[in-house]
Amino acid sequence: MSKLREFELSEDELKSDIIVVNSCTVTNGADSSVRNYISSMKRKNPNAKVILAGCGSHSKGEILFEDKKVFGVMGHSEKEKINEILKIEEPFYQIGDLKHIDSTIVEKFVGKSRAFIKIQEGCDFRCSYCIIPAVRGDARSHREETILEQIRKLAANGFGEFILTGTNVGSYGQDHNTSMAQLLKKISYIRGVRRIRIGSLEPIQIDDEFMELLSEPWMAKHLHIALQHTSDKMLELMNRRNSFNTDMELFNKIADRGYALGTDYIVGHPGEDEKEWAEAITRVKELPLTHVHAFSYSKRDNTVSATMKPEIKGNIAKERHHELTELVKAKNFAFRREHTEGLEVLLEKGKNGIYHGFDQYFNKVEVKSEEDLSSNWVLLNNVEVTGEGNKAEL
Ligand code: SF4
Repeated sequence: MSKLREFELSEDELKSDIIVVNSCTVTNGADSSVRNYISSMKRKNPNAKVILAGCGSHSKGEILFEDKKVFGVMGHSEKEKINEILKIEEPFYQIGDLKHIDSTIVEKFVGKSRAFIKIQEGCDFRCSYCIIPAVRGDARSHREETILEQIRKLAANGFGEFILTGTNVGSYGQDHNTSMAQLLKKISYIRGVRRIRIGSLEPIQIDDEFMELLSEPWMAKHLHIALQHTSDKMLELMNRRNSFNTDMELFNKIADRGYALGTDYIVGHPGEDEKEWAEAITRVKELPLTHVHAFSYSKRDNTVSATMKPEIKGNIAKERHHELTELVKAKNFAFRREHTEGLEVLLEKGKNGIYHGFDQYFNKVEVKSEEDLSSNWVLLNNVEVTGEGNKAEL
């Protein structure tokens, strides 16, 4: 939005002259909501120019443009030029390329204290169910100096926590002959940097150099490591690069260093029969997991998984999703009960004396206080552990 210099943002798309649809294409469902939204805008505001942007422009842009459903199509690499593109008066199809790397790396700020820094884009993996590499291109890293310069500026302005993000964050550095561990060390030397979180890592990206950093005080004591499944047959069908035995070994090693551990997990992918699921869930019980992002598999056209059989019924996937999230919720509760002291929490802006923030283990904490604690770091001992989260009073 910072690039939109000569346009005014409107809250009401029915009164707008231009509607930019920043679309997602991860699932078929996302694709059809974009199509429905575009047709409804054509009906409700026929004079507006509808422009398709985001991942959907790479998967559905051509067809929607040919069918004259949209006025223009703008690919990822073109986002930075949005101010110029919106001035184009003739229908346009500007898809750009998938090798481009955006120069804007600060993705978003939370209050005045946490910043999300995009360190890379794209992905070299080819998981069977995923369309992302096709619409985001192969992995490419941002220049180290750009990242460090940005963090230096933000740290000088009071930001203390940095969250490193990207499409496949852990692949950072492979194209620049450096590594995630090298980058982390350099960020930690910047004055004012107090805590660094990594959005997500793949098990095979965790090497000895990275493991050596686990005891550094600036590392958030929570890692999100994407496993996606715990059955080896499913991992193979999903064309993943991890396997359960090595995942288990890795998780135990990291948990032994006092870390909380989260993961992404897909339930209901084709082939996940009763036997596989029974084994998978038993294995989840053994894993030292504290957080989970569980997804019910959703078919995506033009992926390998879309042709796989047997498919799993929606209600079964839903039950498995529930079983998994409840299990990890209980594990998280047990972890929090054992970690009630020495919690370092960065609070966000508060309301009516109630503040929220996350501790080093990525658990949410609610703090009650008469003082203004917005954007403050607080050290909490003896927090109250409840089903919904941790609570404290200061
Ligand atoms: S690693 Fe992630 S982004 Fe890359 S293909 Fe697999 S699921 Fe998609």
